[in-house]
Amino acid sequence: MTFDELGLEPKILQAVTESGYTTPTPIQIAAIPEALKGRDILGIAQTGTGKTAGFTLPMIQRLARGRAKARMPRSLVLAPTRELAAQVSENFEKYGKYHKLSMALLIGGVSFGDQDAKLTRGVDVLVATPGRLLDHFERGRLLLSGIEVMVVDEADRMLDMGFIPDIERIFKLTPMKRQTLFFSATMPPEIQRLTDTFLKDPVRIEVAKQATTAETITQRIVRIPGKDDKLKRSALRQLLEMDGVRNGILFCNRKSTVDVVTKSLQKHGLNARPIHGDLAQAFRTETLNKFRSGDIKFLVASDVAARGLDIPDVSHVFNYDVPFHSEDYVHRIGRTGRAGREGEAFMLVTPQDTKALDAILKTIGRKEIEELELSGLDEKVQSTAKKTPPRRHETTTRPQDNEERRPRGKKSSPVKSATTPKAQKSKDEPIVGLGDHVPAFLTRT
Ligand code: AMP
Repeated sequence: MTFDELGLEPKILQAVTESGYTTPTPIQIAAIPEALKGRDILGIAQTGTGKTAGFTLPMIQRLARGRAKARMPRSLVLAPTRELAAQVSENFEKYGKYHKLSMALLIGGVSFGDQDAKLTRGVDVLVATPGRLLDHFERGRLLLSGIEVMVVDEADRMLDMGFIPDIERIFKLTPMKRQTLFFSATMPPEIQRLTDTFLKDPVRIEVAKQATTAETITQRIVRIPGKDDKLKRSALRQLLEMDGVRNGILFCNRKSTVDVVTKSLQKHGLNARPIHGDLAQAFRTETLNKFRSGDIKFLVASDVAARGLDIPDVSHVFNYDVPFHSEDYVHRIGRTGRAGREGEAFMLVTPQDTKALDAILKTIGRKEIEELELSGLDEKVQSTAKKTPPRRHETTTRPQDNEERRPRGKKSSPVKSATTPKAQKSKDEPIVGLGDHVPAFLTRT
């Protein structure tokens, strides 16, 4: 099958050829002809399947005819994170280079003024995160009654982030006769309800089994014989210094851990930079660009910031923490081994992570993941045990970071309130005036 057989017009085929793609991916083969007919699509697909081109190509063809009016965009793509929204807009630029479509990207961390000026001129394609879109709408700067095509990308991640009420509201602000292209890696009941309500007789396209891990990725775990963070960081450094590690994304469960790990790596002379939702957008964009170009070797990341990032050439993924949700493991390691390349994924596992590891094994349908033994970890644990007295309030349940989630109408994350013991919270709050070395008794409640 070639792209010419999908019903795309010559200017789009030209842009696709110039991107270097010759064969459409399964989701493109299934989605593009149906989307060109104007059908609604329900795509059950992860990132890495080529789904973005699966919706951008037919949208460009449809939008080529007609003109945008001021403040009334003709199409809307909703993405859960700023990075993903930026990636979608890059796709429109790449494949739409022979069309004169205007586009605006509405994401947080960027000035309202510039975004507003674009909306006033009129845009064919609006790519947005739900929160920022509604902010513009509430200021009266935007009308959604001219939307002809609406795309919801990574709907299950929107659910995790508390965006579903926003998405419902946005659906209701758009005309009933719109075309809807809806993508999700999994179909939990809340997402099913949404698609039952807002999609009209959709073509259902399922391209990969839920939560499958690419065959091109070699996975290994490293057992850490204690829960000492210094030990984990030392094991991490050993892994980063192995032969064949060209670059890597290092995942931590919490933003504070991202900062601590980055600082520690930098102190040890490693070329690392952090990315998470509390960092300024300009810094995040610069970090990603530098990582893509090879100026930065290691990206230390939180899940939300790294979700769906398309960096084609990542040799390694390191899970500094075992993720709280087993599906996140699949997404994390999916950052390597992309586009048929070989990739390796390592995960540090402490005795407290046994349950989370079992959940991951179940998700990926394996009995075990091969173990790699690092030298000297046992001796290190003995020497640190002598130095540090055990902390009485150390806990094995770790609170989940809220990242850049902004659940509207929800007062607090149920996960956070249910699992955050008070002692843990106070441990995270800096104690002013003592520098890095806070005596253990001061961190106790
Ligand atoms: P996505 O699932 O949309 O995030 O795409 C994953 C990666 O596949 C991106 O780097 C795309 O540029 C790339 N890609 C998209 N379509 C094709 C294709 N037909 N052939 C090869 N690579 C593709």
